[in-house]
Amino acid sequence: MTFEDLNLNKPLLNALADLKYTKPTTIQHKAFPVVMSGRDVVGIAQTGTGKTLSYLLPALRQWEFSKDAVPRILVMVPTRELVTQVVETAELLSKYMSVKVVGVYGGTNIKTQMAALYGGADIVVGTPGRIFDLALNGSLKMKSIKKLVIDEVDEMLSLGFRYQLTNILTLLPQKRQNLMFSATLTDEVEALINDFFNAPEKIEAAPAGSPLENITQTAYEVPNFNTKINLLDMLLSSDAEMKKVLVFTATKKMADDVYELIAPKFEGKIGVIHSNKSQNNRFDTVEKFQDGSYRALIATDIIARGLDISEVSHVINFDVPDVPESYIHRIGRTGRADKKGISITFASPREDEFRTAIESLMKFKIPVIPNPEGLEISDVLTRDEMPNNETRNIQDKFKIPELGVAFHEKKAKNKKVNMHMTRAEKLKLKYGKPKKRKPKK
Ligand code: AMP
Repeated sequence: MTFEDLNLNKPLLNALADLKYTKPTTIQHKAFPVVMSGRDVVGIAQTGTGKTLSYLLPALRQWEFSKDAVPRILVMVPTRELVTQVVETAELLSKYMSVKVVGVYGGTNIKTQMAALYGGADIVVGTPGRIFDLALNGSLKMKSIKKLVIDEVDEMLSLGFRYQLTNILTLLPQKRQNLMFSATLTDEVEALINDFFNAPEKIEAAPAGSPLENITQTAYEVPNFNTKINLLDMLLSSDAEMKKVLVFTATKKMADDVYELIAPKFEGKIGVIHSNKSQNNRFDTVEKFQDGSYRALIATDIIARGLDISEVSHVINFDVPDVPESYIHRIGRTGRADKKGISITFASPREDEFRTAIESLMKFKIPVIPNPEGLEISDVLTRDEMPNNETRNIQDKFKIPELGVAFHEKKAKNKKVNMHMTRAEKLKLKYGKPKKRKPKK
């Protein structure tokens, strides 16, 4: 099937040709006739499936010129990055039409955005908080909205936007078409659909929870953080195919830690992004990754969710996410728009239960591959991994081979554990240099 087979018009076909897109993705050709029919739609689709065009194409196909630019389409997305991307895509698609797209999001001057809205807007794309504020102060006119798109609704809810979201829904005209997209159908998402949607048609890009067909998934079993660092270093050094690697970490701190240890070895080729970085820094980092200046980008789940980065060659899960749906989101970032992708997971024994949860959600066991020859297994544990750290008691799991959690034999040199330490040695380990007790006064 090509775009010519969809009932598109010349301006859209020309815009698609400029973008060099020839074939609609699964969600795009499935969603098109349903959106055109005016029914409510729930699309189960990860980022990377082409879901943005799946609502923009039919919405723009139905576009009728009107000289008063009042908002007719409202698109709600969870992050600022996603606002920018959807605005950009909408502008590219409507290049040969007369459509004004305005993006609004928090953390920036609201007055500039109010002025943009007063200047006229046909399509408004924004984050829920800012949309709500602009609707309340009267600068975003809700009365004229005919289509509402809620993108990545599961993410929006997990970011705590439920209040803003439901309030926005009550401000909108009753008679409207609702289009909603979510990577997973959680109970909360289902509840929202039941409350606000009218007999929606469900469309799936890839059945929720099933491994995406065009992604090759593998896992390495490694004992701890420092061995994971060694593994990442080895893979990046030895695999020339790793051209555009998205490395996921559970927390901002872990992202920074990985960055500090890996970046010096690949000077200028590694980036890091999370919500503590400034907006400018974030845009700049994404651009460098997008244009290939960076080979690898280390990112937290939340920030990466909204990034539209094409052609990601590999996703590396530096940790195994404790929420199984996050794994699906993560790996969905490679193999985008029906392209092949590779996902590699670094799994430590303390993450076994998370891995099991992911595998049962996907109904697929992630194949474990042998560690690369010469991988240095580190014995040095991080603070989180220390045995008497109450929140993360890994050592228990780690030391009991009969539970089947100890992996491979350590190399001889790594087996050596010095059990006897003098006090001076302990202090040296802790403070880096020998310390003498001060003489008592
Ligand atoms: P999305 O899932 O909407 O975030 O899209 C993922 C990526 O695929 C974006 O970079 C799009 O520009 C790209 N894309 C969307 N539709 C197509 C298509 N039909 N052919 C090729 N690339 C596409």
